[in-house]
Amino acid sequence: MEQIVEVKIPIPEEVNSILVKLQESGYEAYIVGGCVRDALLGREPNDWDITTSALPLEVKRIFVKTVDTGLQHGTVTVLAGGKGYEVTTYRVDGVYEDGRHPKEVTFTPSLREDLQRRDFTINAMAYREPGVLVDLFGGQKDLEDGVIRAVGDPSQRFSEDALRILRAIRFSAQLGYRIEEETLRAASELAPTLRKISAERIRVELEKTITSDHPDLLRTAYEAGITAIFLPEFDLCMETRQNNPHHCYTVGEHTLKGMELIRNDRVLRLTMLIHDMGKPSCLTTDDNGIDHFYGHQEVSASLARTILRRLKYDNDTIRKVVTLVRYHDMQIRLTAPAVRKAVVKIGEDLFPLFLEVKQADLLAQSTFQRQDKQKTLDEVKRLYAGIISRGDCLNLKHLAVNGSDLIQMGVKPGKEVGSILAQMLADVLDVPVHNDREYLLNRFAAPAIGEGTATMKESGC
Ligand code: ATP
Ligand code: MG
Repeated sequence: MEQIVEVKIPIPEEVNSILVKLQESGYEAYIVGGCVRDALLGREPNDWDITTSALPLEVKRIFVKTVDTGLQHGTVTVLAGGKGYEVTTYRVDGVYEDGRHPKEVTFTPSLREDLQRRDFTINAMAYREPGVLVDLFGGQKDLEDGVIRAVGDPSQRFSEDALRILRAIRFSAQLGYRIEEETLRAASELAPTLRKISAERIRVELEKTITSDHPDLLRTAYEAGITAIFLPEFDLCMETRQNNPHHCYTVGEHTLKGMELIRNDRVLRLTMLIHDMGKPSCLTTDDNGIDHFYGHQEVSASLARTILRRLKYDNDTIRKVVTLVRYHDMQIRLTAPAVRKAVVKIGEDLFPLFLEVKQADLLAQSTFQRQDKQKTLDEVKRLYAGIISRGDCLNLKHLAVNGSDLIQMGVKPGKEVGSILAQMLADVLDVPVHNDREYLLNRFAAPAIGEGTATMKESGC
């Protein structure tokens, strides 16, 4: 069963000493799964998982420092060198009663059985020193050929756990691999069973897919009827044409291009995924046969909230994505005051991301008027850079006057304080040199407390 291979996997010192200790105690032990796959590809593995014939209690006896991570699933975390390594007993997964998780797992002395329960051939290899690779299902060949292939009968494997359908898409996007024909056919047939999978698990796989090197492979999920189950809004985009000189793709293809063109960041990729989802319901065609999508930004923003809530995203992510989607089409006048006001509207934290969204959106359109559009965007970027390098005041915190200044002057605490500060900020956004205590108090506070213009001094601005 074991095969000596040329490739040597550089196993970290601590991991290897865990393997050695298990072996010296009379058990089999290998690194397994994702770390073997990644190491064979020359990629840095996320985590080093260990599989062993030792039972969990035996693992606990052998190592001094352990954490009971999931004893019932056979997993003990061994602490070494300040890090934790998951050591899992060889196991066979029991019946998947609800397509969600095995009702129970059974430990087995057979490495073959443990590898057989794993999802794809490239994830079902084990390795130990010195250069011993256990590859029973052709994982190495599939790595070379760039293929995602289920271990065993794909229909059976996807019926056991429907999440594997999304994992196939995710690994294909991360690695740029194609999904083997039978595996893809089974994924497509069983796609409706994804309804049994929790939103949280779907979210993890969707996010890994779109934050990969090949986010456009979400197209495969569409073609196989997989997105129809958990993201039907995307299917509508794929089916909505854009007969408009600014565009050369369907809404969906434009979306995929946008994701490819933007930096690999979860908020940015989610924004590009959703930014035009309002278009299908906003489509109108004028007398010349040109398609328009008036008001799609607001509809997209509201869909963003619905979709991200449905996928159980956290409030901070929802806020960021909804805001970026809402403003993605905003046109800003090419003046510093207009840019400062846009920064305040969109948010100081989000404005740099907004610029990235605009850039990707532009490049994912047709080349019609592209130079002009780019020139305009470059000018907004230049004005923004100036605002940041000068440190122009953009918020109440940096205003030369604060609430207690106003109250000390005699303004009634409460609403009026807020309203005067807002007027001051609006003025300073227009003319930054107005951010001067004396000037602001004379111009906005004095009239409010009835001192009129009598005490107003020239601010020299
Ligand atoms: P990542 O780089 O995302 O960590 P990974 O392959 O390590 O990728 P994990 O989710 O950490 O993925 O799982 C570790 C291993 O466990 C996989 O390589 C695979 O062998 C097995 N595995 C994980 N989830 C499943 C599943 N749903 N069905 C079958 N095997 C699975
Ligand atoms: Mg992993």
